[in-house]
Amino acid sequence: MLLFDHVTKRYPDGTLAVDDLCLEVARGELVTLVGPSGCGKTTTMKMVNRLEAPTSGRVLLDGEDIADQDPVRLRRRIGYVIQQVGLFPHKTVLDNTATVPVLLGERRTAARRRAAELLELVGLDPAVYGGRYPDQLSGGQRQRVGVARALAADPPVLLMDEPFGAVDPVVRERLQSEFLRLQAEVRKTVLFVTHDIEEAVRLGDRIAVFGQGRVAQFDTPATVLGAPATEEVASFVGSDR
Ligand code: ATP
Repeated sequence: MLLFDHVTKRYPDGTLAVDDLCLEVARGELVTLVGPSGCGKTTTMKMVNRLEAPTSGRVLLDGEDIADQDPVRLRRRIGYVIQQVGLFPHKTVLDNTATVPVLLGERRTAARRRAAELLELVGLDPAVYGGRYPDQLSGGQRQRVGVARALAADPPVLLMDEPFGAVDPVVRERLQSEFLRLQAEVRKTVLFVTHDIEEAVRLGDRIAVFGQGRVAQFDTPATVLGAPATEEVASFVGSDR
């Protein structure tokens, strides 16, 4: 379980990015963080894998304060997928996917076998794509490799920051469907950032609607759409209130 306990983040220049955030994400739950640009979604994610530290409050993973954990060991438990996935250009798709397990000491053959299974899971036939290099893939295919690579270390938690933001709407829908199918199988605890309410509704078990550093509503998609808690949420989700 992932818990944000009164978390506030103020950047050194004074910007209040996250303001007294309280949020509880159950194990195996997919929570979408949605809201307008600059409302603190990415900062919230970065405080989970210690790319940023809270100014006050705590982030707890399975009851332990992540501030007390070694960042390198912590990041082995947390997969991170961003919009522009940084694949290694000189490595094949298979080797990109197997990179982290090999770095962690797994035998190369075993890591590559698992990588091939994961590529299959994200909809890329390893026999066709495994030997390709990133620049021989479409944007959507690169995102799939990013997801497979994040899953390769079998982390209990996945942070996904607009992972499908850079692809066209048709590919995006396909990636969403595939990701839902995958999540039904692997059941990770997922924080998924998007500024697209439709994506948030489609993917989220629950949605956290952000407004200027705070969560304006945290509920199931049906409730957020049907009973928006504030005018701000209503205008963001496009419902009448
Ligand atoms: P977007 O949807 O545009 O990615 P976001 O909701 O993810 O936005 P954040 O990136 O978390 O928002 O930014 C929240 C606020 O913190 C913004 O006002 C942003 O300008 C500010 N901010 C982010 N990073 C820094 C930084 N390193 N130093 C100062 N301010 C920052």
